[in-house]
Amino acid sequence: MGSERRGDGRRRPARYSALTLLRRGLTASPWPRSWQAHELKPSYDVVIVGAGVHGLAAAYYLAVNHGITDVAVLDKGYIGGGGSGRNTAILRSNYLTPEGVRFYQRSLTLYQDLAAQLNFNVMFSRRGHLTLAHTDASLRTMRWRAEVNKLQHVDSEVIGPEEVKRLAPYLDVTSRVRYPILGALYHPPGGIIRHDAVNWGYARGADARGVHIHQDTEVLGIDVGAGRVQRVRTSRGDIATPVVLNCTAGWATTIADMAGVGLPIITHPLQAAVTEPVKMFLHTVVVSGSLHVYVSQTDRGELVFGASVDPYPSYSTRGSLEFIEELAGHVLELMPSIARLRLLRQWAGLCDMTPDYSPIMGVTPVDGFLVDVGWGTYGFKAGPVSGEAMAELVATGKTPELIAPFALSRFGAGALVGEKGAASVGH
Ligand SMILES: Cc1cc2nc3c(=O)[nH]c(=O)nc-3n(C[C@H](O)[C@H](O)[C@H](O)COP(=O)(O)OP(=O)(O)OC[C@H]3O[C@@H](n4cnc5c(N)ncnc54)[C@H](O)[C@@H]3O)c2cc1C
Repeated sequence: MGSERRGDGRRRPARYSALTLLRRGLTASPWPRSWQAHELKPSYDVVIVGAGVHGLAAAYYLAVNHGITDVAVLDKGYIGGGGSGRNTAILRSNYLTPEGVRFYQRSLTLYQDLAAQLNFNVMFSRRGHLTLAHTDASLRTMRWRAEVNKLQHVDSEVIGPEEVKRLAPYLDVTSRVRYPILGALYHPPGGIIRHDAVNWGYARGADARGVHIHQDTEVLGIDVGAGRVQRVRTSRGDIATPVVLNCTAGWATTIADMAGVGLPIITHPLQAAVTEPVKMFLHTVVVSGSLHVYVSQTDRGELVFGASVDPYPSYSTRGSLEFIEELAGHVLELMPSIARLRLLRQWAGLCDMTPDYSPIMGVTPVDGFLVDVGWGTYGFKAGPVSGEAMAELVATGKTPELIAPFALSRFGAGALVGEKGAASVGH
């Protein structure tokens, strides 16, 4: 994997193709590294904090769409070490508000071509997404979402239990269970992706265009003077910069506090788990808000389960027995026949929850301090569109129309973008 030097001294990513694989195999030439380690420069035009999908995508689009390459991406850990390497990688755009649907739909469109654009197989698998309704109230919300989706040209419809059974035969759609399935919101364009590949693909593409990605580099402070950002203090030295973009998700408030910016965000852990691999039998993503569980099957055959966030704020990423016990009970309610499957592992990440379940993107009262945060349990799917939009904001100084509804100022103005009804599981 990697990049190599051109005659003019700049690097370009090594081309991944069957032919190059054959050539390198025959000539026994190793693949160059995907990204380089650099000395920290004393100044950069733009400093991005957080090397998750949001920070890396913003760096990539700054370079590719706007030619801005004097950019540092800083991370106290490693690429994808936050939520971007811990999520369950579900993509969809069937949200509840027109603002949300438009925004996530743009991301899905970018994801569809991402493998070709990055020359990196991100394994996007479009397989349909079912949100089950177990009550009349949730069926009403599904109908509402379906109508909003259709008006935004997004493919979504409410289907009955027979159609649910046809799409996911292993689901128990009988009336014998405690929470019978009354119907579902079916969203054919939804699917799953390989999260690591997305992170690595953006990192490789940004690095090759001159962006410096600094892992093991913790931001310790942000100096603000005369109402604007002046400098970032890190564990490896200080950086003078006029622009800092906060892409730290679960740690968003810790960075914003350094700049003196308050964010209405509370961090909660979110856990997930995966089983041993079995033959492919689940061809759609299945979500049950009432049972607080969702499940998909990877191309390797493992079942990946997620749930709602842990009920208390914390920065801990430890798994808990309570989570597994509750998850198992709810999953077996949906699919009793998988009772003998063994869980391989469980893990947790951090989620930056906002009061209206929508992100916070754009400018803040401190000039040059920008935020791309508030991603809760749903931010991986937004990586490409957020990167594209934040790069445009940095480059032009103008907030793109697509992200204007998600401004920090909406909380003061009382203009919330209520997406709670579209959160994949109840919170
Ligand atoms: C279990 C789980 C399942 C999920 N499932 C889905 C899903 O199916 N679909 C979906 O769309 N979303 C999902 N999400 C949410 C999604 O993972 C996140 O919203 C998204 O990855 C956030 O990306 P990010 O780039 O903003 O932040 P992150 O990937 O969290 O990156 C933030 C980075 O900031 C760094 N950082 C923090 N503080 C500092 C500092 N002081 N100095 C330097 N660096 C710092 C961290 O080390 C980290 O690498 C899930 C999350 C979890 C935990």
